Amino acid sequence: MEKHEQWAVRVPRYRGEEIRRELILAGVLDREKRPRIDGESLLLPVIKEIEGAELNVFETRDPLPHLPRHELIGGIAIMLDRDPAAAEQLLALRPSLHSVLFPLSDVQGEHRIRNFEVLAGRPVTETRCLEYGHRFEIDLAEAYFSARLATERQRIAALQDEGEQVLDMFTGVGPFAIILAGKAGGVLGVDINPGAIRLLVRNVWLNHADNVIPFLADANRLPNLVSWTFDRVIMNHPTGALAFLPHAFHLCKPSGTIHCYVLQSREGEAIPELMKYPVAEVAEHYVRSYSPGKWHAVYDIRKKT
Ligand code: SAM
Repeated sequence: MEKHEQWAVRVPRYRGEEIRRELILAGVLDREKRPRIDGESLLLPVIKEIEGAELNVFETRDPLPHLPRHELIGGIAIMLDRDPAAAEQLLALRPSLHSVLFPLSDVQGEHRIRNFEVLAGRPVTETRCLEYGHRFEIDLAEAYFSARLATERQRIAALQDEGEQVLDMFTGVGPFAIILAGKAGGVLGVDINPGAIRLLVRNVWLNHADNVIPFLADANRLPNLVSWTFDRVIMNHPTGALAFLPHAFHLCKPSGTIHCYVLQSREGEAIPELMKYPVAEVAEHYVRSYSPGKWHAVYDIRKKT
């Protein structure tokens, strides 16, 4: 493989995906070179000298054949088009894949899951996914999981203090719960979907995250079930989180933090709703695109003392 000296931007690894997107938008990311990890930093090659850039050596990527549009989750590719021939081609070109699926529905219902048709490969919806050194067992037909939130989970982990008590109100198979468990004193991972909690138990075991409590419950009932309060509350249920804010504020310690995820089509859309509660500070962040004109956003809220 050829190597070249090249201008590059050094960024913290957990912000890699966000800054990579910004460099693409600015038209300066060099997509022909392979980004490089250097300790806690990611080196993103750029096509010219820009502010803060440094010179480094990069490998040139092998040109990829044209692949059909898809999203990867572990050994599963979810194709955006129902094209069995393209699915077979994808399976042949990506050796890590065991199945190619096509979603027959949007994410739907209280459990936030989709129905799938298997286009190619093994007829399964279960897979294993590795995220920043954490292993997750997933069943897409049984519980929600999105690999596109990996960078966001690292952002939250970087905000954590040692020993925090964390409440993950809509935990799914536990990606936030297990990643935050590393620094936390304890994590309570709550979900109403028994399939999600079954997989969370498995993931707790796989990651030796023995400070995570998997809890099958309706988050509406938490104030009656839990008598302690938390330093940090994660509310990743973008279509429903706002309705649970009274419980989140009740269960959050004074000066604690709530991360409330929403889908929105206007910046600051949720601010009027948030201001009904004892908010000391709030910061809004873009997480990822959702559909044309709509995006997944998070409000980092500090509760009043
Ligand atoms: N936080 C997980 C993640 O990032 O992968 C899962 C997010 S998924 C969008 C939302 C989750 O909220 C689903 O697993 C669903 O079962 C759960 N949920 C929906 N309503 C709930 C409720 N009333 N109480 C507890 N969990 C609920």
